[in-house]
Amino acid sequence: MSVFSHSEFDNHEQVVFCHDEATGLKAIIAIHNTNRGPALGGCRMWHYTSDEEALNDVLRLSKGMTYKSALANLDLGGGKSVIIGDPRKHKTEDLLAAMGRFLERTGNQYIAAEDSGTSVPDLQVMGRETANVAGITERTGIDGLPCNGDPSPATAYGTFIGLKTAVQYQLDRTDLKGLKVAIQGVGNVGYRLAEHLHDAGAELFVTDIHEEQVQRAVSELGATAVSQNEILSLNVDVIAPCALGAVLNDESIPLIKAKVVAGASNNQLASQRHDLMLRERGILYAPDYVLNAGGIIDIFYERIGHEHTKVRAHIETIADTLTEIFRRADAQDRPTGEIANELAEERFMK
Ligand code: NAD
Repeated sequence: MSVFSHSEFDNHEQVVFCHDEATGLKAIIAIHNTNRGPALGGCRMWHYTSDEEALNDVLRLSKGMTYKSALANLDLGGGKSVIIGDPRKHKTEDLLAAMGRFLERTGNQYIAAEDSGTSVPDLQVMGRETANVAGITERTGIDGLPCNGDPSPATAYGTFIGLKTAVQYQLDRTDLKGLKVAIQGVGNVGYRLAEHLHDAGAELFVTDIHEEQVQRAVSELGATAVSQNEILSLNVDVIAPCALGAVLNDESIPLIKAKVVAGASNNQLASQRHDLMLRERGILYAPDYVLNAGGIIDIFYERIGHEHTKVRAHIETIADTLTEIFRRADAQDRPTGEIANELAEERFMK
């Protein structure tokens, strides 16, 4: 298994392979870049079919965190860790504690947060062995209500700010009253985004694979339920993908009628070229990792002293970053995703 010649290797500073025989722990920690500060990123536990698959994931995801934190103006670098194993079968307290000891050995260069297959209580177990974990303490959420560490309210608020910014830029309107928004996935983030939009007077169209989530949005927020197949091609102003990745692709883009795409789900573009395809169709794409940075901003403040008003104000800077991206994209006639990557590099390569 190659590392330095791996297609996802991008000058990562450290890639640590961790093994603990007693607990069966097999994990990889990848620290992509620490120019702006310690690398922060989720610790994922997944039933990878091979070590190669795990390496691929950790190299790719750790790099993404460097870009996300830089664009969110955080003093953080990018990292990620993966535990190889089925979280339902192989996760034990001893295994998590062993992972905590490996986190400690990174010497404060990598801080882990929850991710797919791990939870706040899992991170708390790791936290018995190290201070290099985040997103685990009770705090006041950005809405002023108690929060158990779940970053979703902060992510949803950032997505709402980003969506408003994109609408103002593309449609020249600050008032969201009557704005038609189609939300794909009304889970933790999508539902909260729907609440913000509802409060601002937008007209909502929603879909989800879980019928009860849809019904909640219909009854509580007056949303219109639509099928999964039609959500992206509705005659609306904005589509907000909040469920899956790779939804902006060769099949979906030609059918999009909205002039703005602004949602929270990660890796919405099926491939980099779809960025240009959206621009050529006159659709403004608000890069997903700029919009969904509210969660990491929230977690960052836990480490430096959490004050929910400061977190909120920091999340609102997403608007400035996005506007800069949109302006540069127009000035250079280039796609927004490409410009976002370039701006991130300017910020972390300094
Ligand atoms: P979630 O699992 O709570 O919500 C996702 C929702 O999408 C679920 O209700 C699910 O039923 C629905 N869904 C799945 N497949 C679908 C499909 N084909 N069509 C329609 N709906 C479908 O997850 P979440 O925490 O709300 O995260 C949503 C997205 O945002 C994910 O891509 C996640 O990676 C990204 N994100 C989340 C956070 C966060 O703080 N939670 C932070 C950054 C990025």
